[in-house]
Amino acid sequence: MTTSAKNSEKRLSTPKSAEYSKQIATVIPGGNDSPFRGFDEVGGHTIFFNRAKGSKLYDIDGNEYLDYLGAWGPAILGHCVPEVVAACQSAIELGAVFGAPHELELEMAKSVIEAIPSIEKVRFVNSGTEAVMSAVRLARGFTRKDKIVMFEGGYHGHSDATLCSQGHQSSAGVPSTTAQQTVLATFNDLESVRQVFAKYRGELAALVVEPVCGSMGVIPPEPDFLRSVSDLCRKNGILFICDEVLTGLRVARGGAQSIFGVTPDLTCLGKALGGGMPIGAYGGRAEIMEHLLPNGDVYQAGTFSGNPVTMAGGIATLKLLANPAIYKTMEDRTAQLFQGLQKHIDKKSLPLQLQRVGSMFGIVYAAKPVKNWQDHLSIDHRAFAEFFHKILARGVYLPPSAVDAACVSAAHTENDIEETVKIMCESL
Ligand code: PLP
Repeated sequence: MTTSAKNSEKRLSTPKSAEYSKQIATVIPGGNDSPFRGFDEVGGHTIFFNRAKGSKLYDIDGNEYLDYLGAWGPAILGHCVPEVVAACQSAIELGAVFGAPHELELEMAKSVIEAIPSIEKVRFVNSGTEAVMSAVRLARGFTRKDKIVMFEGGYHGHSDATLCSQGHQSSAGVPSTTAQQTVLATFNDLESVRQVFAKYRGELAALVVEPVCGSMGVIPPEPDFLRSVSDLCRKNGILFICDEVLTGLRVARGGAQSIFGVTPDLTCLGKALGGGMPIGAYGGRAEIMEHLLPNGDVYQAGTFSGNPVTMAGGIATLKLLANPAIYKTMEDRTAQLFQGLQKHIDKKSLPLQLQRVGSMFGIVYAAKPVKNWQDHLSIDHRAFAEFFHKILARGVYLPPSAVDAACVSAAHTENDIEETVKIMCESL
């Protein structure tokens, strides 16, 4: 019997994690370095992991989990992929950071430009937050305008410019003068974009959009929504920025822009791009990118930006993702998961929505499909929390959030999915 088969029968016990999660809260606020990781929404104590391989996570109590968190996106090929590990090891042995240009940086830049043709020039940074923050500053510097448009419920990292609206995007400590520079439209509602453009005519530098919303239950764009928004941007002289930190490489090697037929002025990347190493990148039209210092007057810098280890991980990942069979596997596995769950949902008439684009998915506790911020308010967080703990106790790890995207990796096998469907259906 495989370990995961055993998991379907037994309830995992996690006493060490329970103890460590108490201890860590005494030295790290909230017990973690990024609040998403906490179990505040679902209750209970967090799980401490000490190993990950392929589609599995292993905790300090000796339990095995089928992983659908994917480290919040990066683990697109699964964990500890031999080619990526070897590439990072070779790089670190030659020097972890030079603070000067190197060949891997050149190769990685060429690889990103090859994968995403709207990117003519690219800069590497260390996180998705840095990528979006830098792209917004560049857009402001290029257009000489201050305001940006975002969509309600969109998540673009934790820079002041993108953390100043409502819900999970708001934060104390963002100056009100900064918050006033960000205005909101409604995702999948072109009229709302028109209205915002009309209201702030002449003041807008850029519109930033997640092409697939990953923090509201996984919301795909309505047909032609992105193309229409991009056309409106172009007509109004507003830069169209696609935040593909989560969708980039994940939904297709060329990103969501290759699926939905848009050509952004600037694209932000992160997560899956580094093969597990910390990374962010932003790039786009050369004419805009040339406004960065030293050629232009927009400042952006970083000690670890483009470091050899991250670049090596990224190059190895992009090479593996050049094989279309990888995307077919991820598509097949996610379809298998959804077919199994949908059959059960239909049979029991459960108030659940299965929402996905490629291998990025949400199991959404709502009576009707969630298409925007307003719809997402109807999601039943309590029902999700109960489901989350039932499957966690049987060795299936989802993001501890009713609204954030889960991920299938290329390492998930048919058996993994079969086991997951069984556990989930018995727990829904
Ligand atoms: N943009 C999007 C769409 C994201 O999903 C995230 C992270 O979840 C970010 C930006 C921020 O990336 P990071 O957490 O690497 O700073």
